[in-house]
Amino acid sequence: MRLNEFDLVVAGGGPAGIAATIAAARNGIRTLLIEQAGYLGGMATNALVPAFCPYTDGHNLVIGGIGLEVLEKMKKEGYESPFYDNKPDRIRGLDWVPIDAEILKRVFDELVIASGAQVLFHTTVTGANYKEGVIESVDIHHKGGKQTIKAHFFADCTGDADLVALSGGAYEYGDANGLVQAGTLCFRVANFDSDRFMKYARETGEDGNLNVASKKARDAGEFPTGEKNVAGIALQADGVAGFNFGHVYDFYPLDAVDLTRAEVEARSKIPQMMRFLHKYVPGAEKAVLVSSGPHIGLRESRRIVGEYQLTKEDYDNRRVFEDAIARYAYPIDRHAVRLEEADYDSQNSEYVISKYKRGEYYTIPFRSLLPKGIKNLIVAGRTISTDRAMMGSVRVMPACFATGEAAGTAAALCIKNDQEIRDLDTKELQKVLIKQGAIL
Ligand SMILES: Cc1cc2nc3c(=O)[nH]c(=O)nc-3n(C[C@H](O)[C@H](O)[C@H](O)COP(=O)(O)OP(=O)(O)OC[C@H]3O[C@@H](n4cnc5c(N)ncnc54)[C@H](O)[C@@H]3O)c2cc1C
Repeated sequence: MRLNEFDLVVAGGGPAGIAATIAAARNGIRTLLIEQAGYLGGMATNALVPAFCPYTDGHNLVIGGIGLEVLEKMKKEGYESPFYDNKPDRIRGLDWVPIDAEILKRVFDELVIASGAQVLFHTTVTGANYKEGVIESVDIHHKGGKQTIKAHFFADCTGDADLVALSGGAYEYGDANGLVQAGTLCFRVANFDSDRFMKYARETGEDGNLNVASKKARDAGEFPTGEKNVAGIALQADGVAGFNFGHVYDFYPLDAVDLTRAEVEARSKIPQMMRFLHKYVPGAEKAVLVSSGPHIGLRESRRIVGEYQLTKEDYDNRRVFEDAIARYAYPIDRHAVRLEEADYDSQNSEYVISKYKRGEYYTIPFRSLLPKGIKNLIVAGRTISTDRAMMGSVRVMPACFATGEAAGTAAALCIKNDQEIRDLDTKELQKVLIKQGAIL
């Protein structure tokens, strides 16, 4: 396989990498996206995460640009869910839109290919060749063997900051004890009677966490062991529901032995969850498990040490930065590292307490995308430079699209202007992002 030299190589094709690739290629630079799976989407498709987190602050749209384009394109082809938690701070069609992973995979293919970027599937970035803080090339592995690819700029959108780690960049990992948020193997069921479920939901006020059904099961001592709640249900197609349900605690996702144990443990829990759904959720009596995620969903691993670390204090102060490249408003949503600490449905949970009032938001500075000490690397997605609390907000997909779009656009401007990333005029970047529909 012959590959030319590129202006930008993007490692990882999740929400961040997809947006970075499309933004860069649309701005006219030679862009290569490298993805280890056989399709794009990251956690949305590879872990079957059932829905997109809110695109609004409960009042206004806060995520535009490529992220919004993806959402609208997916909705056009997909199913309009009749189930919607009728909470006052949600806007229908923009907040918690269910994902049909098969449609989404195709939407991503079409958008990325139309942008003019080149994509390599089934290919992993395994090494970086760097000198004096500049990455000259990356090593990739695929069935054909090992190859080395040169580029002017690189974007780390691996969700684990792999390229930062491979280039000797600094990062933090998990909490003070080296533990990360629990992982979840999401799954989809067919033969789900949506009409019956909707009748039940209207009558009981059942919500997206199935709190009514869960309480009944808990009172009867029949809630799945090792679980405190259902993290989410989404009606994804006629007769098909997706679940973010079940946690695996205390594993190290960057170690293959531990990750294997987590996959096995997560799968072994599904029959118990199915029994709960069959017995306690009207409409799910005859539901059949049709798939679990090809990969267990990972909420957390590395966070880069960047030129600016976004913190909980910034979140609390609704901080607006001079070099803002995105705005967002999602609460601090950190799943526990241990079962004993899990408290997802309580009114005192961090998620509930941190919620903004409608219309409030914070911003993400460009500096949080720049790893200290590496001159030609930009990072986007859940691993940007934040403290652990703040990561609980920026880790969700709409924010990852936004940081990805900023990363790809910045690389394109640097190529056009023939300049280093740190010399880029952030006002120029902001102007272009706004022109592309981003909301800063
Ligand atoms: C169980 C669970 C539930 C969630 N629920 C929601 C939700 O309801 N709504 C929401 O919006 N968000 C949700 N999230 C969060 C969100 O899905 C992720 O945080 C988000 O997808 C991160 O985007 P990313 O692009 O940074 O990384 P990822 O989505 O992880 O994508 C990274 C991509 O890089 C690829 N990759 C990794 N390493 C390499 C390498 N070395 N070489 C080549 N390719 C590589 C991976 O295969 C993957 O495709 C959830 C997450 C989990 C785990």
